[in-house]
Amino acid sequence: MFALASGIAGCPPRDQLIEADLQSGRERAVPQCRVIGHSVEGRPIECEIFGEGPDVILIMASIHGDEPVGTPLLDQLSAHLRHRPDLLVGRRIILVPVANPDGYAKYLRHNVRDVDLNRNFPAGNYLDSGRHGESPLSEPESQAIYRVLHEHLPKRIVSIHQPRKLPPCIDYDGPADGLAREMASHTDLPVIKLGSRPGSLGAYAGDTMNTPIITLEIPRSREDRDSFTLWRRYGRMIIAAIEYAGGN
Ligand SMILES: [Zn+2]
Repeated sequence: MFALASGIAGCPPRDQLIEADLQSGRERAVPQCRVIGHSVEGRPIECEIFGEGPDVILIMASIHGDEPVGTPLLDQLSAHLRHRPDLLVGRRIILVPVANPDGYAKYLRHNVRDVDLNRNFPAGNYLDSGRHGESPLSEPESQAIYRVLHEHLPKRIVSIHQPRKLPPCIDYDGPADGLAREMASHTDLPVIKLGSRPGSLGAYAGDTMNTPIITLEIPRSREDRDSFTLWRRYGRMIIAAIEYAGGN
């Protein structure tokens, strides 16, 4: 699991992007590790950046802290990418494994000010409501994601959730129909367009920035913390999102 309080697991500060693995002799990708902000309670919001190419993909998890399955999945993805420098040619892959670290630590959907971070973005459909924050980007966690969006301008985004009442599915906003269908071809999850939630990351990135964004609603199961089982089940779909080069 990603270490929340003591720095980024397995990610010493280094300058080089590729290094030789002394045991295997093969090349190994080395991510840049950054703290992109801090939560209300001061926990770091961490990201790993693999590669430096122009095809930028942002993959993030646990913006809803009680939907934690994406975090062990990104742990596996990070390990996978270290051994797949070929996937980084022409690409920059940004992983934010825990977008809501206080909620993740306490198994809360919202942050500790009881704001739903996925309703706190400055989308055209932002709705003024207590649980959506005092104003768009009122919360440090949504501010951190906003900064990443505007610093790196990803070409596509995947945000991993788990449904409470909705069916498990691949939802999307913006011009992401082709990407959603490509991902669906590697899993049994259906593509369902749920519609932009007010002030959500999907609404902001998809509708305001016109960036393809997938909201991946992975079913809850007993294997939610078993990163190996999760990776076997969903890893190919996530790699397909990274490799996706088609139009929408
Ligand atoms: Zn969610």
